[in-house]
Amino acid sequence: MNDTPTGTDAAADGAGQDFIREIIRNDIASGKHAAPVTRFPPEPNGYLHIGHAKSICLNFGVAEEFGGRCHLRFDDTNPTREEQEFIDAIERDVRWLGFDWGDHLHHASDYFEQLYAWAEHLIRNGKAYVDDQSAEEMRQTRGTLTEGGAESPHRSRSVEENLDLFHRMRAGEFPNGTRVLRAKIDMASGNINLRDPTLYRILHATHPRTDNAWCIYPRYDYAHGPSTAFEGITHSLCTLEFESHRPLYDWLLDNLPVPSKPRQYEFARLNLTHTVLSKRVLTTLVRDGHVTGWDDPRMPTLAGLQRRGVPAAALKDFIKRIGMARANSLVDMAMFDFSIRDLLNKTALRRMAVLRPLKIVIENYPEGQVEELDAINNPEDPEAGSRTIRFSRELWIERDDFMEDAPKKFFRMTVGQEVRLRYAYYVTCTGVVKDDAGTVVELRCSYDPATRGGDSPDGRKVRGTMHWLSAVDAKPAEVRLYDHLFASPTPGSDGDIFDDINPNSLEVLPGALIEPVLATGNDSDPVQFERLGYFCRDKDSAPGRPVFNRTVGLRDSWAKQQKKG
Ligand code: ATP
Ligand code: MG
Repeated sequence: MNDTPTGTDAAADGAGQDFIREIIRNDIASGKHAAPVTRFPPEPNGYLHIGHAKSICLNFGVAEEFGGRCHLRFDDTNPTREEQEFIDAIERDVRWLGFDWGDHLHHASDYFEQLYAWAEHLIRNGKAYVDDQSAEEMRQTRGTLTEGGAESPHRSRSVEENLDLFHRMRAGEFPNGTRVLRAKIDMASGNINLRDPTLYRILHATHPRTDNAWCIYPRYDYAHGPSTAFEGITHSLCTLEFESHRPLYDWLLDNLPVPSKPRQYEFARLNLTHTVLSKRVLTTLVRDGHVTGWDDPRMPTLAGLQRRGVPAAALKDFIKRIGMARANSLVDMAMFDFSIRDLLNKTALRRMAVLRPLKIVIENYPEGQVEELDAINNPEDPEAGSRTIRFSRELWIERDDFMEDAPKKFFRMTVGQEVRLRYAYYVTCTGVVKDDAGTVVELRCSYDPATRGGDSPDGRKVRGTMHWLSAVDAKPAEVRLYDHLFASPTPGSDGDIFDDINPNSLEVLPGALIEPVLATGNDSDPVQFERLGYFCRDKDSAPGRPVFNRTVGLRDSWAKQQKKG
């Protein structure tokens, strides 16, 4: 036991018992590896989303737990789609999740020269050839799932001719799409990925890192495996769609003089209801203005989650709860909300805010009098202490908390019914003021001075407790309520995915009111607006006009479902 690497015990006592951790544990026990070396390999063609977080938590997580290390490697092999903005965002978001790649920030483009030399190695060994067929011809000769493909007429070129053509491809002699380098494996293979897959294509494009040094670029499959081997990765963890690529991955490592032989293991991709985790669709949402940007709080991107106020710890908790299965599944978004709520309930300070204000006047409360009351900051955390709030004759309550013709079970404010104003007094609505259109614009109330602090001296009970703000305290704010970006739980499952966009995913409340402590400062930690949900300050806030985003509501629909289930 005493020669196990640091972290092994932490892993053993329950941090994760999934099949990947099992494999790693066995590899350490058998002495195959002293510790795992993993990598997270994003393509910088978009922002990271919740699905990527699963992969990040796995790769960096096992490295941490078993005393190994995890590399951040950009698979930057497609210069036409990749941007510096995405590279910066990815680094920021991995750090936000609390992970660190140390000195191991790598790029597939760091290995372009090595990959090129290895491609020549394949050619010299008769394992790769230059094909002059067009993309269309190659598609037509690739075969189908049930039928093998047809060999290219250029397949039997001599090594010399292949080397010469490959050099000239690199030298820029040929236009885009006129030639490719292909692995010479087996056009009759049952696995399409082994039917002489393309290794290099001609692309006269400027690369964010290598600029114009190259006009041929390796395909993902060729760049990925050999790069992991070059870096000494032990466990190359990827999602299930790469399972059928594994034979190619292994073929490349078997046929190249690579310094190590990583093993590829596949795990299930995370799919979530009411959203999409496809970069192609997310890119379109941004480009076509369905959202305000990659960090729109409705987006499933890590940048969007941060802006919505989701703590990294809640996302990590969610990923731990869903586990690391081998079979694909669809996870209910309510489960993610549960993790967010569970954490914020423990950490968020309680504040009062009124989203849709209705004025009430306490007629028997002295005009001009202001009283200080004590309000608890977080009942789950005594250390958080309390704060002072002020009571006065004119107050604001939530418009929804009043009903003129209330049914029997309505325990909030209606004429003649006594309710508690939290931390303050029992009050009773005595009358209603309406405008010419018949809309209620103000309530008349009375209060019982003997109920200060919200308790009755004679044990008199009230069924409703409401939040409120005094006219002397209330400060203006804009509040943004978010709902699912897609109305359908499975967007695009029956028709165009963009038709499933929820037209009501954003509700802006420009006339909300908040406590003075929220109006100043620029703290972005989420708070609980009592009875309403968790909210955080948005970057659109301006002095005197704070903007708050709803992180998540208070309702615990997931727990209810679990109980029923
Ligand atoms: P694309 O390759 O189509 O641009 P991608 O979502 O696969 O999109 P990558 O940047 O290639 O994006 O992904 C980086 C890593 O994150 C890969 O190892 C991939 O398997 C993993 N990953 C991507 N989406 C998910 C997901 N929904 N669940 C789990 N892992 C994911
Ligand atoms: Mg990918």
